[in-house]
Amino acid sequence: MLTDQFYLKYLLNKIYFRMKHEIEDKLFSVINAIPNPIIIISSDKLQSVNNAFLEFFNVKSIEEFNKNNGCIAKLFIQNNGFFTLSDVKDNSYWSDYLFFHTEINRVVSLQNQNNQIFDFELTLKKIENESEYIIVFNDITQFIAQKNEYKYFAYHDHLTKIYNRQRFDELFLKEVENRKRYKDHLSLLLIDIDHFKKVNDTYGHHIGDLTLIALTKLISKNLRINDIFARWGGEEFIILLPRTDVDAAYIKAQEIRSLVESHVDKELPPITISIGVTEMNDSDTTNTCLQRVDKALYLSKEKRNDVLKVI
Ligand code: GH3
Ligand code: MG
Ligand code: MG
Repeated sequence: MLTDQFYLKYLLNKIYFRMKHEIEDKLFSVINAIPNPIIIISSDKLQSVNNAFLEFFNVKSIEEFNKNNGCIAKLFIQNNGFFTLSDVKDNSYWSDYLFFHTEINRVVSLQNQNNQIFDFELTLKKIENESEYIIVFNDITQFIAQKNEYKYFAYHDHLTKIYNRQRFDELFLKEVENRKRYKDHLSLLLIDIDHFKKVNDTYGHHIGDLTLIALTKLISKNLRINDIFARWGGEEFIILLPRTDVDAAYIKAQEIRSLVESHVDKELPPITISIGVTEMNDSDTTNTCLQRVDKALYLSKEKRNDVLKVI
């Protein structure tokens, strides 16, 4: 009787483990069929990975991956606002840190075996009563690329590729804040091409367009990295010069005016520009500052090929 019971228990156990293995095998096939890399990680150590993960890094096993790379988070590439190991501000494991700091963007960049960079959004699931996480790397490379492209078009002028007016307005507000915070100078140049209508009328609109492009390239090359250069509209351009007082801005404007006047391009008509200059003061808003630089430009137009400052 007792042996029968034992035998029955033995049989049930056997059936249970066979079924468990079958279920696990099926689950594993499903996980391996998923094209996104999936890992199970405990104390930042890889416990299990799917085929997509091995293929991504061109390795045969976790051991080979560990030997080549060590901790996976070391491979997260610095990318505007994406998560990297340097975001972990204490001694936590990166997976714990990311799980508990929900304010951090769960987005990372990784390079595959062909040196292609992919962007992934991470889904972290903590396995209950364990120190393990299942992490799914959802490929969002296309989405990020498209988002960056939309952002580029929203911020840049289609013809000249410099900032458009909308972006300028945003950056102007930021620079006004910086000026206040650091008690610094902030100057403004407004540029208008002289008799540009004549260029279009004489050489055609296409040459007019190419002249606008060439002008922006010439000016861009002669600005500092922190200067903000934008198309104000038509044949008018605006330059924001952070950390620059009105006298230095005036000198810079004369430099640009003279550069344009003496520039020779065999394919394009010669042009000159007039420039208004001003500096932001404590009682200014962006609007009053813009009105003043507009007035300076208007006055410079009396002579043309001239620079005039209004304080
Ligand atoms: P002023 O010396 O007084 O500034 O004379 P102007 O001819 O430059 O000024 P006006 O405002 O009369 O004409 C500006 C011209 O700029 C007219 C317009 O067709 C031309 N323009 C504006 N945007 C573009 C553009 O994107 N491409 C081309 N080719 N021309 C443009
Ligand atoms: Mg104009
Ligand atoms: Mg003009």
